[in-house]
Amino acid sequence: MTAQTIRDLLPSAAGRAVIVRSDLNVPLNDGKVTDDGRIRASLPVITDLARAGAKVIVLAHLGRPNGTVVPQYSLAPVAQRMTELTDISVTLAEDVTGISAQDKAAQLEDGQILLIENVRFDARETSNDDAERAVLATEFAALAGPDGAYVNDAFGAVHRKHASVYDIASLLPSYQGALVATELNVLDRLIVDPHRPYTVVLGGSKVSDKLAVIDNLLDRADTLLIGGGMAFTFLKAQGHDVASSLLEEDQIPVVKDYLRRSEAGAANIVIPTDVIVAEAFSADAAHAVVDANAMASGPGGSDGLGLDIGPATAKLYSQHIEASSTVFWNGPMGVFEMENFAGGTYAVAKALTNVQGLSVVGGGDSAAAVRALGFADEDYGHISTGGGASLEYLEGKALPGIDALAR
Ligand code: ADP
Ligand code: MG
Repeated sequence: MTAQTIRDLLPSAAGRAVIVRSDLNVPLNDGKVTDDGRIRASLPVITDLARAGAKVIVLAHLGRPNGTVVPQYSLAPVAQRMTELTDISVTLAEDVTGISAQDKAAQLEDGQILLIENVRFDARETSNDDAERAVLATEFAALAGPDGAYVNDAFGAVHRKHASVYDIASLLPSYQGALVATELNVLDRLIVDPHRPYTVVLGGSKVSDKLAVIDNLLDRADTLLIGGGMAFTFLKAQGHDVASSLLEEDQIPVVKDYLRRSEAGAANIVIPTDVIVAEAFSADAAHAVVDANAMASGPGGSDGLGLDIGPATAKLYSQHIEASSTVFWNGPMGVFEMENFAGGTYAVAKALTNVQGLSVVGGGDSAAAVRALGFADEDYGHISTGGGASLEYLEGKALPGIDALAR
C-alpha cells in the first residue's frame, strides 16, 4: 500500500489539529541558527497546513540530548527563525508532552503553529523498548485530540524507529509530507532506471561507513569514483604503500572483493592516481603532490598522510562527472575543512554543477562542503536534507518512518 500524501489531507485540514514531524536539526552557534536550510525545506508543509486552517503542532529534535533536558538543545532559536521566515508566528511549548505542551495545544486556534520542545528531551522518544515509545506516541496523539492527523515530513529522521517518526503513525490517520515525497522521488531516480552514464562519487572518512552503499551501487552505476579517506583502503588493496594515511586494514578483503566484482563486469571502480600527502594532520602542514605509488616519499616520508586526491585525479574525476547524465556524490574527496586539502572536493563540487542531467549531493558533510565552498543549492539537481536516511535508502534498506505511513 502506498502512503497518502499531504495533498490528500489539505482539503479536510481546516479546524483539525495536525501533528507534523519535521527535521529542524540545524547547526547552532551562540544560540543562533547558522544554516537554516532544513527549516526552509520544512516550512512549506507547515505553512500550507496552517493556511488551510489546521492547528499545526510541529514535532522535531535537535542534537543528541540523550533523553534529558539540555537547555543548549532547546528549539527556541529554531522557533524564532521560523517566525522570521514566515508571516505566521510560531509559539514554542516549554516541554514535550507536559503541562505546557498540553495547554498550548488546547489553546491553539485554526491557522496557528505550535512547536513542541525538542522531542529528544524525553528518553522514550528513542527508546529501544516498544512499549515505552508507544506510551510517548499516545501522549503525542493526545495533543491533537480525536480528530487529529499526522504528517511525516522529516526525511532526515525516517530511518529511525522513534516515537515521533514511527509509533505515532499507527495512532492517527497518517500522511507523507512533500519534502519526504521529493527526497524519495529523487533517490528513486538513482535506483530505478537511472539515465546513463551513471556515475557515483564516494568519499568521506571511512570505507566501513559506506560498505552497504558501495555494495548496492556496484550493480547499478556505470562508474564509481573513490576519494577521501576511504581511497587509501582501496589503494592498499591494490598493493600501494599508503604510509600513515587513514587505513582500515580489516576492510581490505571486502574492498578486494569489490575490485574483483568491478573487473567481472560491475561498475568500473576508479581510484586516485595521485594524492596530496602532508607531514601532519594540520591546516599549515608541509604538503606535496605525489603519485599514488610514491606516498611514502612525500614530506614526512613514511609518516606521510594522504589528505586529498591530487590534481590529475581531480581532473580525471571531473571529466567522468561532466560526461555523465546521472551523478550521485557522497563524501568529501579530502579534508576540505583545511584550505590546502579542499582542492579535490572543490573540483568535484564544481564538476557536478556542469552535469547535463541529474546531480544529487547526499551526506551532511558533503552538503556542508558545497555551501562552504561557495556553491548554491540551485547549482545542483538536489541536495538531500538527510545524510543517513538517503544512504540507507540507496543501500536498499527499509525506512521505518516511510513504511509506517503505508500501513
Ligand atoms: P558525509 O557526511 O558527506 O557522508 P563523511 O562523514 O563520510 O561525509 O566524511 C566527511 C569527513 O571525511 C570530513 O570531515 C573530511 O575531513 C574527512 N576526510 C576526507 N578525506 C579524508 C582523508 N584523506 N583523511 C582523513 N579524513 C578525510
Ligand atoms: Mg558526516
